[in-house]
Amino acid sequence: APTAETVLGRYVKGEDSNPRSAADREKIMQNMRFGAEFSDHMASARWTADTGWTEPKLLPYGPIPLDPSANVLHYAQEVFEGLKAYRHADGSVWLFRPMFNAARLAASARRMALPELPAEDFMASLVDLIRADQEYVPSVEGGSLYLRPFMFGDGAGLGIRPSESVRYMVIASPSGPYFTGGFAPVHIWVTREYHRAGPGGIGAAKTGGNYAASLLSQLEAKAKGYAQVCYLDAVQEANLEELGGMNVFVVRKDGRVQTPALTGTILEGGTRSSIIQLLRGEGRDVQETSINFDKLVEDIRAGEVTEMFACGTAAVVTPIGKLGFEGGEVELQQGDVTQWVYDTLTGIQYGRLEDKHGWMYRV
Ligand code: PMP
Repeated sequence: APTAETVLGRYVKGEDSNPRSAADREKIMQNMRFGAEFSDHMASARWTADTGWTEPKLLPYGPIPLDPSANVLHYAQEVFEGLKAYRHADGSVWLFRPMFNAARLAASARRMALPELPAEDFMASLVDLIRADQEYVPSVEGGSLYLRPFMFGDGAGLGIRPSESVRYMVIASPSGPYFTGGFAPVHIWVTREYHRAGPGGIGAAKTGGNYAASLLSQLEAKAKGYAQVCYLDAVQEANLEELGGMNVFVVRKDGRVQTPALTGTILEGGTRSSIIQLLRGEGRDVQETSINFDKLVEDIRAGEVTEMFACGTAAVVTPIGKLGFEGGEVELQQGDVTQWVYDTLTGIQYGRLEDKHGWMYRV
């Protein structure tokens, strides 16, 4: 990965001084509601077929003008990413596997017929924004600065075609610890009524439409008392895929760990990929495979499956306490593997454990 020093300074700050008072900033850093408040600046760049990527800038955070006929508002030509900057005990600031996100953004962009942003520009946008707004990287235990890079077609016109003009931006939201007072196991509704993605579709891309498709099922699951929805594959309606915003893992009594294979309909999570590497590094048998849901329920009832957890950047690891589905429910215990994965990953991210894989990137 290009070091921060080599990419630094591509996104240039203009005349603006910080629009916020120190007192206002203080208030934001005390609340830190995830994704609700943002730092002083945003990174921005533009693309057209003629010019390629131009105008890298750091602008004051705020509303952006958009033509009412802009592609993204009608045809959803859009991709995004999510990653965090962590402050270590010595005050230094680090990203976790940002090159993974650079590559995933490029892959999502290809699928959505958007231009690829070179990895160096992606890294530069993060480094420049974080350095400009570094007082927004929390120092509290478990806090982080959540970064949201996104790219969208802003070209005017209602013709259904790839936008001739594209905008890339990054915004940053200081967030507090996800869990206060230990793990809170989530209850998950496994739906056979809705699907998130199908073969040949856009399930493997991080694009807004996938999340729009999940909102109604999420609402209905909430009404039934479940926090999130887990989807099954759309063809056989048999195999576990993922949650609306997290991947899933199953831990078996015999020590094997399983997670749904990357079939093209699920998003490859950076957390998922890291967990697989960490567990394999401990000599565990980790299988990327198909997980039949009916069989899984049987195995949970028989005690063959002892733990399940969901994983993603926001919460890192969340134990699954209950699965609900049409016609039944099964409960799961919290276990040692989930706790070990959480402790190890957060240990690396916050600099308490050695970073053997070279995952941390100094900003
Ligand atoms: N699946 C989906 C659909 C997601 O939105 C996310 C969050 N990006 C994940 C899985 C987990 O990905 P990551 O570990 O990279 O955050």
